[in-house]
Amino acid sequence: MQVEDLEKVSLALQENAKDFIEKGLSYIIEDELKDYKYSLLHIFSGTLLFLKDVLYKEHWSFLFQDIDKAKKSDLLENKIISVNFTTLLFRLENLSDVKLEKELKDDLQWMQKERNKIEHFYNPINHHEVRSRIASLLGNLISFINDLHKSDPDFDFDNDYDYRHKYQSLFEVLQKYSLMFETYIEKRSLRIKKDLEACDLVIHCPLCKQKTLEIKIDDGLTICHFCLSEHTTDMFYDKYNHISLDPEFYMDDSNKCPKCWSNKLYENTYEVICFYCFERYEHSELSNCYRCDTLIHESLSGYCESCWEDIMSD
Ligand SMILES: [Zn+2]
Ligand SMILES: [Zn+2]
Ligand SMILES: [Zn+2]
Repeated sequence: MQVEDLEKVSLALQENAKDFIEKGLSYIIEDELKDYKYSLLHIFSGTLLFLKDVLYKEHWSFLFQDIDKAKKSDLLENKIISVNFTTLLFRLENLSDVKLEKELKDDLQWMQKERNKIEHFYNPINHHEVRSRIASLLGNLISFINDLHKSDPDFDFDNDYDYRHKYQSLFEVLQKYSLMFETYIEKRSLRIKKDLEACDLVIHCPLCKQKTLEIKIDDGLTICHFCLSEHTTDMFYDKYNHISLDPEFYMDDSNKCPKCWSNKLYENTYEVICFYCFERYEHSELSNCYRCDTLIHESLSGYCESCWEDIMSD
């Protein structure tokens, strides 16, 4: 296979990626609720094609799900079983020099879940959630493209000062739409600002990612003012607490709330909340006791109270 043939595959991937993403975004901007599902399917496919191209530029065989069966001739004849979502992310993270940020990975995984729901189940779409998550995706894709050159060992600032030109048309689409989405988010945020100011406890919503989820402690309810999702506090805890299994976080059952000793802790990227006494903690305020590993809050010594007393009385 010639160099120009390889180039052709890449161009086709890039072109299709851009077309799918643009089409999907335009559906959302038109705001026809019934089209949201097509929009998600298009944006998901387009984003995967783009990421496949990034992988393809690392090595053409990475496009095959089974690298052992990779044949250049199959590529050109479209006889390829191409890499699936999980493998694609794995290869981007482990076989390429590209840096896949956690935020982008989160957005991609969210989109894959939504896609599966659309294809397999009845799924009422929450359009506020979709808009907010897609806005986040656009921002993260823009940073990803911006950062691509940093991972390229052949990158030559003098001769190739704008690496983005490789994805220029996609980049322009992302930028154009991200402005429209930002406007939407600003408008919506402005509308709910007053309501939020009156709330006692507001955390980040796991669905739309905005810091707009009110915990109404007395009513036992959680309500997101941005995406309007509503749960009882117990339902919310049961449904979203699994996020704490993310290896990057450290809350597990052995950790207890420093204030009330309940182990009903909920953790996200920004905060830890006890769903028993509803104390909210910043990650930076929490640590584990050096001696007994108990979770402690703003301890200067690094020890829990009882270990500290033991040490001082020795
Ligand atoms: Zn929300
Ligand atoms: Zn507590
Ligand atoms: Zn201790």
